[in-house]
Amino acid sequence: MSDFLKNKSLVEVEGWLREEDPGRLEELWVAADETRRRLVGDEVHLRGLIEISNYCIRACAYCGLRAGHGDVERYRLSREEILECARLAVQFEYGTVVLQSGEDYGIKRGWLTDIIKTIKAQYNLAVTLSLGERPDEDLQEWREAGADRYLLRFETSDRELYERIHPPAKGQEISDRPAMLRRLKALGYEAGSGVMVGIPGQSYRILAEDILLFQNLDLDMIGVGPFIAHPETPLGRGEMPFASEGMQVPNTELMTYKTVALTRLVCPEANIPSTTALATINTALGRELGLSRGANVIMPNLSPVKYRALYEIYPAKACIDEAAEDCQGCMKGRIRSIGRIPGSGPGGRKKAVLPQE
Ligand code: SAM
Ligand code: SF4
Repeated sequence: MSDFLKNKSLVEVEGWLREEDPGRLEELWVAADETRRRLVGDEVHLRGLIEISNYCIRACAYCGLRAGHGDVERYRLSREEILECARLAVQFEYGTVVLQSGEDYGIKRGWLTDIIKTIKAQYNLAVTLSLGERPDEDLQEWREAGADRYLLRFETSDRELYERIHPPAKGQEISDRPAMLRRLKALGYEAGSGVMVGIPGQSYRILAEDILLFQNLDLDMIGVGPFIAHPETPLGRGEMPFASEGMQVPNTELMTYKTVALTRLVCPEANIPSTTALATINTALGRELGLSRGANVIMPNLSPVKYRALYEIYPAKACIDEAAEDCQGCMKGRIRSIGRIPGSGPGGRKKAVLPQE
């Protein structure tokens, strides 16, 4: 384990988040890359993302799909459209499909169970779900149907900030996403989570706490990307308070790399994507730099092109009108361009036996 974070303490992690010296940061990138190579290898796993619905009952203060954003034309893919995307995943040799949506109760438990079973039987792909805060009965049935993984970002470890940015759905109590992640693990899912970098109100201390919570939850997958302001949301309109002077984390590319690198050092064996949000703020090299600073996963978009613009969680999303076929060629080229290898197979978490320190 790197000397960088010997104690993995809050003070150390926060100190690194505040580091500005280019020489020291270069050391951080090298340490994260070396840890990535040793623990999860040179393969970059490809997860085909299928955005199955943009309906959502939630009013998250950061997201363009929030309920109440009336300008959004809503859609839900049909069973046939989802299965066609899964077929493409096989054709492109992706080992996993990720079924993602808003929190949409128009996605019925049994309907999705049938789709999961069909994907497993016909295509033998790993199936990841990212459908928001569904009841335990849904999660259990989908797990029994063969779903392998579940992604649910806890967004922030700070309860007060969480309540501000992720208000409860009508008639419900404020949710506890870390508790849900523990339940997902108990059900046998590989559990993934993460946060946005630089949301208004996120202090350096809070982001350092987030990174330590990744470790505490023993997450299998961790996604971190920059917060990108959507003008039709409260956070995007600047209606929510920033952390006090000198405390607010900026939503920059550099801060995202620091967070990716520190996440790799704190959770060395996790699968960590180089996110689309990062590619959005640096279309030329964001994905490659993420991969060179700790990440080992890419999630190319498999959604039918005609729906892509409607899944607008933030504006100007990267690869919005790239056909799935072109996308896979581009991604594999980018992976090879930095001396890495497109992964094969499901690419689940490898549990390493770590040497005693
Ligand atoms: N509805 C599900 C949920 O919330 O878990 C899954 C889909 S949601 C769009 C996936 C993730 O997008 C969220 O967890 C959030 O971190 C991220 N996201 C939403 N709005 C964003 C924004 N404005 N900038 C960057 N990321 C954003
Ligand atoms: Fe809905 Fe997820 Fe967006 Fe929140 S982040 S509004 S739950 S799609």
